[in-house]
Amino acid sequence: MELKNFMEDIVLSKMEEVLRQYPNCCTCENCKRDIAILALNHLPPRYISTEKGQIFARVESMGSEYAVETVTQIADAIEIVMAHPRHEANK
Ligand SMILES: [Zn+2]
Repeated sequence: MELKNFMEDIVLSKMEEVLRQYPNCCTCENCKRDIAILALNHLPPRYISTEKGQIFARVESMGSEYAVETVTQIADAIEIVMAHPRHEANK
């Protein structure tokens, strides 16, 4: 049996949508990873077992339940990363 924190999938699927509201935020892989980590550390993990073919349907149906808190945490994470990027700002 394998377990998966499906909040990871929800954060990753919502992140692009939230990033569009922050056109000044860097979207390099490093910054996107930092945003995902920050958001996930502020969200309670929700574990599911990873039976083939079921993950996607469950993320779709359960994702909407957590959409608001997920988007809020992603937005907070974006603001933190924008204020403290781990690399020089692109000019
Ligand atoms: Zn970056």
